[in-house]
Amino acid sequence: MIPEKNKEYTAIVTGVSSDGNGICRIDGYTLFVPQTVTGDKIRVLVVKTRTGFGYGKRMEIIEPSPYRTEPVCGAYRRCGGCQLMHIDYAYQTEIKRGIIENAMRRIGGFEDFFVSDMVGADKPYRYRNKMIFPIGKDKNGEIVCGFYAQRSHDIMPLDGCVAGGDFNGAVIRAVKEYMQENNVSPYDEKTHTGLVRRVFTRVSAKYGSVMTVISVNGDNLPNREKLIKKLRTACPDIASIIVNINKKRTNLVMGDKNVTVWGSDTIKDNLLGLDFEISPHSFFQINHDMTEKLYAKALEFADLSGNENVMDIYCGIGTISLCAAKCAKSVIGVEIVEKAIEDARKNAQSNGIDNAEFYASSAEEIVPKLIENGRLADVVILDPPRKGSEEKTLSAIVKAAPKRIVYVSCNPATLARDAKYLCENGYSITKSAGFDMFPNTMHVETIVLLQNRNM
Ligand code: SAH
Repeated sequence: MIPEKNKEYTAIVTGVSSDGNGICRIDGYTLFVPQTVTGDKIRVLVVKTRTGFGYGKRMEIIEPSPYRTEPVCGAYRRCGGCQLMHIDYAYQTEIKRGIIENAMRRIGGFEDFFVSDMVGADKPYRYRNKMIFPIGKDKNGEIVCGFYAQRSHDIMPLDGCVAGGDFNGAVIRAVKEYMQENNVSPYDEKTHTGLVRRVFTRVSAKYGSVMTVISVNGDNLPNREKLIKKLRTACPDIASIIVNINKKRTNLVMGDKNVTVWGSDTIKDNLLGLDFEISPHSFFQINHDMTEKLYAKALEFADLSGNENVMDIYCGIGTISLCAAKCAKSVIGVEIVEKAIEDARKNAQSNGIDNAEFYASSAEEIVPKLIENGRLADVVILDPPRKGSEEKTLSAIVKAAPKRIVYVSCNPATLARDAKYLCENGYSITKSAGFDMFPNTMHVETIVLLQNRNM
C-alpha cells in the first residue's frame, strides 16, 4: 500500500541505497530517506510517492543507530556535496562494499560476487585535491561563493570545505573581496549576464603548489593585477592563476580557452615516483593517496613481466600508462581530451619513458582501428568515465583477445554491465578490489581482473 503523502510515520531504517539514502519500509512500501542509516528509528514525513517507491524527509531521530556519528561540517544537512557524513567511517566502507556487490549481482548477474579486498581511506577529510566553487548573488544582491544546496542551484555561502585543502577558504575570500572592491559582477545563470562564474582550485599533494582557475563569462577580468596580488597574498602556495573563458550558456564547468595570467600553465604532482604536469582541462584523480593504492592494485592485477604490450584505454594524462610502461614492453594510451594527451606525451618525455605512445581520440573510434591494424595487446587496462565503455570498444577488445583485462571503474552499475558483456565473450572475473576514494560521499571505485578463459 502506498503511504499517504504529507503524513508522518515511524519507521526503522534497514539499509542504505546506492545513492546514499536510508531505506525503510512502511507497510511493505519502500521509502528513501536522506541522512539516515541502518538501525535508526525515525519519524519520517512522506514527501514524494511513486509506484513502487517514494521519498521521505527525516523529521526526528527517535533512536539513533549505533552507526551514526556527528557530522564534522556545519553545512552538511543542506549541502549536496557529501551524503554519508552522518555515518561512522568503518560502516561507510561496508556500505560501499554492498553497493559494488549488489550492482555486480543484480545488473551483472554475478550471483556469488564478493569484493575480495575493500580498501578504506586513511584520511576521511581534506583528501580532495580539486574543488569547484560556483559564484552568484544571494537574494539581497550580495556576492556568494560556495556549493549548490541539495537538489538545487541555490549557492550556499561557504568558507571552504572539509573535503578539500584549508587554503580554499582564503582563495574564496580573496576572489570575493576583489569582486566587491572592483565592482566585478557575479554570473547569473538565469539571465546569462554577469562575469565571474566559478573558482576552481587544484593542489599538488606532493609539491603543495596550487592552481586557481577563474571561469568568466567574458574575455578578461578588470584590474586583474589586483586579483593576482590578493590571491598570492591569501595563498602563498599559488603557482598558477588562469582565467578560463566560458561565454556559453552551459552548465559545463569550463570553456575551451585558458589564459594564464600569472605563473605556470600547469601544476605538477607525483604518483608512484613519476611526475605529472596537469593542465586545467585534464582529468587527474582527486584523492592522491588513495590513487597510489588504486594504481598499485591495478598494476598488481596487470601482472606485468616486461614482455607485454599494454593498452590503457581512457588514459587521461597517461598516469596508469606511464606507471605500467616501466614494467611492460610497450604501452598505447587512448584518451578523448587532446590537452590531456599533450600532457601525457610531455609526461612520458620528462620521465624518460620511450615505450609509450598516445592517441587523442574517442576509444570507440580508435580502439577498433588499432586492433584491425594489428596493434593487439596482451593486457588491456580500462578506466572509463561514469557511463562506462561503449560496446564498440568492448567488442574490439574481445577480438584482440588480451590475456588479461584490468577494469577500473567509478560506477559499479556500468562496471557490472560491461563485465557481463566481457564474461559472455570469453572472460572470467578472478579478482576484485574496492577503494574508498571519496569518503563521506556515496562514490566508490572498483577494480576487477578479467582473465581470458582460453589462455
Ligand atoms: N586513467 C586516468 C583517467 C580516468 S578518468 C586516470 O586514472 O587519471 C576517464 C577518462 O576518460 C577521462 O580522462 C576522460 O576525458 C576520458 N574519456 C571520456 N570519454 C571517453 C571516450 N569516449 N574515449 C576516450 N576517452 C574518454
